[in-house]
Amino acid sequence: MTPLEARGLHRFYRRGDSEVAALLDVSLTCQAGETVAVTGPSGSGKSTLLGLLAGLDDPDGGSVHVAGQRLSHQTPTVAARIRAQHIGVLTQSSGLLGHLSVLENVQFAAGLRAGGGPSPEEVLDGLGLRAVRRATVRTLSGGETARAGLAVALAGAPTVLLADEPTAEVSADEETTILELLRRWRPPDSATVIVTHSSTVAEQADRVVHLIDGRLA
Ligand code: ADP
Ligand code: MG
Repeated sequence: MTPLEARGLHRFYRRGDSEVAALLDVSLTCQAGETVAVTGPSGSGKSTLLGLLAGLDDPDGGSVHVAGQRLSHQTPTVAARIRAQHIGVLTQSSGLLGHLSVLENVQFAAGLRAGGGPSPEEVLDGLGLRAVRRATVRTLSGGETARAGLAVALAGAPTVLLADEPTAEVSADEETTILELLRRWRPPDSATVIVTHSSTVAEQADRVVHLIDGRLA
């Protein structure tokens, strides 16, 4: 079964009286174990695409299927269930539950998924978060928060792993670390899509797709 299949995606935003075409006829299929890097200038539609692949937004045309199930144009409840079971999302806003500990966040995410992969404790050890695993998320530093977000995205070995410029908010050193950890701990069978400005990240991907003005170049 194809982990991730997006067909003919269109997305328009209204701005005053005009309409912005954020995505035009974008199709993307990602196989198990494949890493696709999405590059393109600012405003080219990268985050819009990732939001559609995550089911956080619906396309104005086209469809997204994850693990054989239609994700686009579902009720919010159904989309949330498919996302919880199958999709790990790493964005700049961490998506962590601030009042829970790091470990509780990872256990919560892992519990929603079919399972497999390393245990929450192993993931936290691997990401260098053992010392802060009992700490409440809102007490973490920026770098720790980024790694905790990665731990939650990886928990329970999601079918699809989506990352939108995961390193934009951290230092260059931390960026190298995060991307190395992502590569090392990525579930081997997951389909991974990473939006990135980094040529290093793009070089290490199996495939690079480039967006220009909402179209695949
Ligand atoms: P990127 O991530 O490549 O920088 P985005 O997907 O964020 O690009 O944006 C693509 C285009 O859609 C831009 O022109 C942006 O201004 C516009 N856009 C994105 N989100 C919205 C929104 N919620 N409302 C109106 N315009 C939007
Ligand atoms: Mg963006």
